[in-house]
Amino acid sequence: MRPFSYTRAHDVGAAVAALSQERTAHLIAGGTNLIDLMKEDVERPTRLIDINRLDLKAIEDTPDGGLRLGALCTNAQTAYDERVRGRYPLLSKAILAGASPQLRNMATNGGNLLQRTRCYYFYDVATPCNKREPGSGCGALNGVNRIHAILGASEHCIAVHPSDMCVALAALDAVVQVEGPRGKRAIAFADFHRLPGDTPHIDNDLAGDEIVTAIDLPPQGYPAHYAYLKLRDRTSYAFALVSVAAALEMDGSTIRRARIALGGVAHKPWRVPEAEARLEGSPADPENFRKAAQAYVHGARGRGGNTFKIELATRAIQRALVQAVTMDTRDDPQLHRTTTEPR
Ligand code: SF4
Repeated sequence: MRPFSYTRAHDVGAAVAALSQERTAHLIAGGTNLIDLMKEDVERPTRLIDINRLDLKAIEDTPDGGLRLGALCTNAQTAYDERVRGRYPLLSKAILAGASPQLRNMATNGGNLLQRTRCYYFYDVATPCNKREPGSGCGALNGVNRIHAILGASEHCIAVHPSDMCVALAALDAVVQVEGPRGKRAIAFADFHRLPGDTPHIDNDLAGDEIVTAIDLPPQGYPAHYAYLKLRDRTSYAFALVSVAAALEMDGSTIRRARIALGGVAHKPWRVPEAEARLEGSPADPENFRKAAQAYVHGARGRGGNTFKIELATRAIQRALVQAVTMDTRDDPQLHRTTTEPR
């Protein structure tokens, strides 16, 4: 690990000012990803700005009936908050599907959004990686790419975003609140993370001198019909090969509103609004679910090791939609793990 200096910020303005003054500085909160990256010599900040004492730890009702999640709330606090569990159980379940209890106790909501890909080559400084070192190449394109993207990738990068929480936030139409030297702004969750294109080193639309302050959830949390289905190589402490966040509003057996986001398949949580729109007003039946699943993987491309994900995603979407309609998850091992976890 390289030498760096350390500063503690006591308010958002001070954190923003410190970031603006030293563009090679880095904010640190839970540190569950950044410290690993520093140890591996992937991230090389000259200064760490500790933001753990900023007043961004509240979960508050918003005037429109939604909920505001402070950026510095831990993932565990968020997942176990009674309002989140009751009104946004999809989010709670997705968070608890990720990482381990120890990591969720440290990791913050803001940090979850900003965590970096787990592409093996990104972490191995002896290999080429356009995300770590622009212009150096991509080791995964013709390498070991079992965990990599099938949608929205480019010839410069086929990495995926690793978060579970973000997949649920995408389905819930969350909004990211940020603050910087030019003031405050709100970013729709669908616009927050970027596709790699020819700039894979840029993960999201947060400017280098801005800080995430909160995540807003809209009033509709789909508590009656939701599913978070995560498929992975082992049933705990593993990143998704494919995950599906499905949220439905039902009118009898007809779908009134549908929101579906995929994880593990792209550089950002993957939404296909046209497919959701086609489901709306349709009967919740296997044929419509099959068509929706096919629309979601339209244009998908495998690179050899990850080609299996196309069929896996197709099936996972259909299964998640059935789970969301019936709320029957008896065959879901994740359910048993999360509901027996100590609070
Ligand atoms: Fe780097 Fe992206 Fe290629 Fe992985 S997939 S080696 S992160 S450029």
